[in-house]
Amino acid sequence: SYRKGGYHAVRVGDAFAGGRYVAQRKLGWGHFSTVWLAYDTHRSRFVALKIQKSAKEFAQAALHEIEILSAIAEGDPSNSKCIARLLNHFKHAGPNGQHLCLVVEFLGDSLLRLIRYNRNKGIGLKRVKDICRSVLVGLDYIHSELGIIHTDLKPENVLLVSTIDPAKDPVRSGFTPILERPEGSLNGGTVININEKKLKLKAMRAAAKISQRRESMGGVIEFERSLEGIDLRCKIVDFGNACWGDRQFATEIQTRQYRAPEVILGAGYSFSVDMWSFACVAFELATGDVLFTPNHGQGFSEDEDHLAQMMELLGKMSRKIAISGTRSKDFFDRYGDLKRIRRLKFWPLDRLLADKYKFPEPDAREFADFLRPLLDFAPEKRPTAAECLKHPWLGNSKVASK
Ligand code: ATP
Ligand code: MG
Ligand code: MG
Repeated sequence: SYRKGGYHAVRVGDAFAGGRYVAQRKLGWGHFSTVWLAYDTHRSRFVALKIQKSAKEFAQAALHEIEILSAIAEGDPSNSKCIARLLNHFKHAGPNGQHLCLVVEFLGDSLLRLIRYNRNKGIGLKRVKDICRSVLVGLDYIHSELGIIHTDLKPENVLLVSTIDPAKDPVRSGFTPILERPEGSLNGGTVININEKKLKLKAMRAAAKISQRRESMGGVIEFERSLEGIDLRCKIVDFGNACWGDRQFATEIQTRQYRAPEVILGAGYSFSVDMWSFACVAFELATGDVLFTPNHGQGFSEDEDHLAQMMELLGKMSRKIAISGTRSKDFFDRYGDLKRIRRLKFWPLDRLLADKYKFPEPDAREFADFLRPLLDFAPEKRPTAAECLKHPWLGNSKVASK
């Protein structure tokens, strides 16, 4: 992918935007981009630099993401709506072409890493509630104030907020900014006496230890802090697939496991697809398991298995909904029964939580009570993010956490 039209190869110490941003290390990557931790020398702070692939379609996608993120930033001057803030954008010319670059506020680990960090055992209901609150604030904002649908909500696309600023607290964050290419800075010319050298070595070893223990700056530390009772906060990222509610182009949206039934059926979609994904994410945080894991099998497709899994958890889909989509005939007969998967093993959500995941009965009941309406087959019946924020399951925790 590092060829014409593809990714831009970056080395630690590379400068961008006329020297303003200096690359520190790679934070992640996706289909469209590589994302680097960079140091903003104008503002003395760390930022995330998303460097898009250069081919036309990727540039188009970046322009779209810039448009959406700009609208989000404009409507939220105090940056309190739980969406990653776009700080700047520019073009960077490299050997593989022109790359659009997005400068976004630097955030910590993704929820996916948080789940893995807990060895897929769930992160505890108090922390699930913290995260749900943040995500719902973000969704309510983009849905009801801006008319934007995210369409790709999943653990990877929600990042923890780091309350430690590495620029101000390099020791705790285990990181000091690199301002030029490491090769060039090796023999910087500073004369160091023996004692100083020893001290420096000691400091370097300590720093190395810290960075070994923490897979990445911000997130895991944040998690450790959460154990001390500090609320976890997070923000939604990756608006590359987001769309305006009244201007949809894609019919196949969302990552498989988080995909709403109306998308599979081809029955049209709206803001409530994000609410479906949100419920899947909340379940995953609480249990460590992905809620729906469809597979194709002998004689049936991944889509049909997905619909079957949904019905096993949520009960049979009404005939009216089952036959409502342009693709319904691929899966359902005219009675509204699946064509190829005839026997369903029902296991309702509250029972699943209590029996398989050993939640105490009241916890299982209350959590299922929160999630179940979000997983309504009828999209218009799902609660909005604003309504969810008023649910007692979230309210109680605020009091309990004090
Ligand atoms: P996708 O294929 O998912 O559409 P993409 O190319 O659009 O990917 P993003 O999802 O925006 O890229 O970012 C890729 C990864 O980079 C994220 O999953 C995350 O690990 C990391 N990342 C993105 N933004 C930030 C940020 N603001 N702070 C820290 N890390 C980030
Ligand atoms: Mg992504
Ligand atoms: Mg993307």
